Amino acid sequence: MDKITSTTRLLGLIGNPVKGSLSPEFQNFVIDRLNLGYVYLAFSVEHELLVQAIEGLRALGTSGLNVTVPYKKAVFGEMDALSDSAKAVSAVNTVVFQENGELRGENTDWLGFIKSLERNGFEPRDKRCFVFGAGGAAAAVVYGLLRMNAGRIFIANRTLENARYLVDKLSPYSDGTDLNCGSLSWPGLSEELRESDLIVNATSVGMTGDEGKSICDDPAVFGSNQIVYDLIYNPSPTFFLQMASNEGARTIGGLEMLILQGLESLKLWTRVEFDSFEMLNDVKSFLR
Ligand code: NAP
Repeated sequence: MDKITSTTRLLGLIGNPVKGSLSPEFQNFVIDRLNLGYVYLAFSVEHELLVQAIEGLRALGTSGLNVTVPYKKAVFGEMDALSDSAKAVSAVNTVVFQENGELRGENTDWLGFIKSLERNGFEPRDKRCFVFGAGGAAAAVVYGLLRMNAGRIFIANRTLENARYLVDKLSPYSDGTDLNCGSLSWPGLSEELRESDLIVNATSVGMTGDEGKSICDDPAVFGSNQIVYDLIYNPSPTFFLQMASNEGARTIGGLEMLILQGLESLKLWTRVEFDSFEMLNDVKSFLR
């Protein structure tokens, strides 16, 4: 990073916990590469101080924030305006502090996911997609796939009501996509999986601390004609991706989405355009 001076602008991450987040490392690397006059810091904020933290950052003239667990929904009420994607997904992962002092809530998770598919040569239009999970990350994935006119999206979730809620919430964004859901014990699950072009794990099953687990325990559903995506980036690869890879599927881990959503946030804050895919390669080498 260039010297911090009296004109250096502040960017940051709020969540709890934020320790271990990769965002400060890679955002400051990109800021340095592009020679931007910003610094990016992580703030662990207690829930009862969330509003004060945001107001304090506004008063200090902060340029932008990423928002992570558990505040992606909680910051909603503090925003003066929301992007269509933030409204659709009901989550804000990016706050833009505008020149007039207003706060604009955005969601770049869905774009990070879609850009990662694009980078891997997968075009969702008319394709069959299967998503495990119905939480915030799944909402971003399904919204992105709807925006890209996927042919069919099937959501499978442990709690069926949550999947049904997601289908209802996102149906208005479906322009001809067949959007459906079922529980993890639905009898047609294996066939649905086998026939899918893209399979995504958007649950937290398989994260560090839970490494030996996979949301799907039947390797026979995977094949060499599929792309299998796990939003989890630690461990890398997950057990789910190892299983799919053993069956010949092309696999993608969550690191790409994490970096690409962060790069989209940086573009919104700084209004500086750059090649996301080129930068993604540089960031990946740096983090390695
Ligand atoms: P969330 O809103 O809490 O949703 C968690 C989802 O996982 C729900 O669908 C939940 O099902 C399911 N789940 C949890 N434990 C389960 C279990 N034991 N068995 C079956 N299903 C289970 O979390 P989120 O924000 O969507 O995040 C989900 C994952 O995506 C996390 O691992 C997160 O790190 C990752 N993520 C990655 C990125 C990236 O950029 N790569 C971005 C966002 C999130 P129920 O509805 O039944 O509870």
